[in-house]
Amino acid sequence: MSLSLYSNYRQRQLEALLEISRALTSRLDLPSLLRTILGYAAEMVRAEVGYVALTTSQHTLRLTTGYGLPSDVFHALAPYLAQKSPAGEFWTETELRRQLKIVAETTGLALEQVVALPLVLADEEIVGGIFLFRSGSVAFTPGDRSLLRDFADQAAIAVRNARQMEQLREEKARVEAVIENSPNGVMILDPQLRIIVINRALARITGFTQSEARGRPCREVLNLQNISGDHLCLNEQVPPPTGVWYGEGDIIRPGHKRITVGITYSPLFDRHGSLINIIVTVTDITRYREAEELKSTFISVISHELKTPVSLIKGYASTLTRRDAEWDADMVAEIGQVIEEESDRLNHLINNLLDASRLQAGAFKLELDDISLRNLASTVIERFQTQTDRHTFVLDIPPDLPLVRADARRIRQVLDNLFSNAIKYAPDGGEIRVSARVENNHVVVAVQDQGVGIPYEEQNSVFDRFYRVDSSLRRSTQGVGLGLYLVRAIVKAHGGDVWLQSLPGAGSTFYFSLPLTPPTSSHHETMENPATPPRSQS
Ligand code: ADP
Repeated sequence: MSLSLYSNYRQRQLEALLEISRALTSRLDLPSLLRTILGYAAEMVRAEVGYVALTTSQHTLRLTTGYGLPSDVFHALAPYLAQKSPAGEFWTETELRRQLKIVAETTGLALEQVVALPLVLADEEIVGGIFLFRSGSVAFTPGDRSLLRDFADQAAIAVRNARQMEQLREEKARVEAVIENSPNGVMILDPQLRIIVINRALARITGFTQSEARGRPCREVLNLQNISGDHLCLNEQVPPPTGVWYGEGDIIRPGHKRITVGITYSPLFDRHGSLINIIVTVTDITRYREAEELKSTFISVISHELKTPVSLIKGYASTLTRRDAEWDADMVAEIGQVIEEESDRLNHLINNLLDASRLQAGAFKLELDDISLRNLASTVIERFQTQTDRHTFVLDIPPDLPLVRADARRIRQVLDNLFSNAIKYAPDGGEIRVSARVENNHVVVAVQDQGVGIPYEEQNSVFDRFYRVDSSLRRSTQGVGLGLYLVRAIVKAHGGDVWLQSLPGAGSTFYFSLPLTPPTSSHHETMENPATPPRSQS
């Protein structure tokens, strides 16, 4: 090669390498980069055919890019390379000659020379190879090799970059999937407290869609009330946190249940200590809060309700046993009666509590029989009528009402609770009517009073455990808010339902339904707290 030819050649090589590094930095995708590199490399050593094969995760080779390679050659070569590992022996002359043969035969070209260079990363990992073939008897020289080494290095860099990009993409997709599918609410804020990312769970809690929430200040989306602890998403005046903050609050949306949330704010700083993001995780702690409230209600209600009868019993008992006093028989009888009534009340309360906890433990047994609701209601009325002269009981159940398959003791407990409420919450007296009719394969029983009624907004809650309507009557009547809870549980265990109608100030009607079963033999059966309650056959 003459000197001027050589310097032209050098010049072209430099241009090619420059072009390739430009392509590398302009972030062309890997296939185009490899095509460019391979094209220049082939041109520099005047090869007619060439290809790049990359190492797969199974340590074999995958034909990626071809130069002067018709597609049928591609198809002949690919399966061959797919069995090869780019380990040491792969680069031997014998192996390369084998490839040369395949390529020459399938292209039909008189290819005689082959040169191959592994693509090696800094840590010696072989990520693939460049293969070039040409015709004629002039073999590739060490000079060609050292020239091609530069191209192979560039290709290795392109592969490494592409791999890193792919890893980053995968990592990002993984993090996004974790955030998106987290059962806890998550959002990422910019330093101005605007929402950059919000996940599905948090969107659901706040009532915003993810796209509505994005870009908004977090205080608009996380509209908190009854707050405690440290909060960022309250107003712009809150200074950004320097460490992790925790706060709790309620999210109240019209027409939805109140949700109590615990919120952790974790700031993210860059290397220079500037705030870049704040990661906010929002956990629904409603159940824990409710359980806590329930516990404290339980303790205060129970201690109050137990205290009254116990102190009455104690007071009367010590009166009775005073040595300095003489009591006549009437007085003793009267005191004895109070003690008995108060003990009954204690007993009733304890039974209710036991039933409630049995219910929770899933150990609620029903002993089923064919029972007459009319007879049952009439017995209960008889007993209650002795306790009040302000209320009039009306039994409005037709004698031919079909029998229902139910636990007589439990249904009696239901009627007991409904009647005692009808009395308690109608302090001025009035009529208390119990009626029953058959409707859609069920018997529906109604207990109607002319009492104080229940405010509309509380009608859904009265069946909840320990729920008592907040009124002056609440303080003057005894009760712990378990009666209707047990009523509902018993009726549901029978496969029925409970509901109410009430006009505040005018009275309430409580309904319960029990499924009617076709008459069967009247043997006695026992049912363990049924997961699927007995259903009427329809
Ligand atoms: P308790 O009577 O022990 O408070 P319940 O579970 O039986 O508990 O009733 C829950 C609440 O529902 C009562 O505190 C009362 O406020 C309301 N309530 C129940 N029955 C009636 C009724 N017949 N009339 C008006 N309010 C009622």
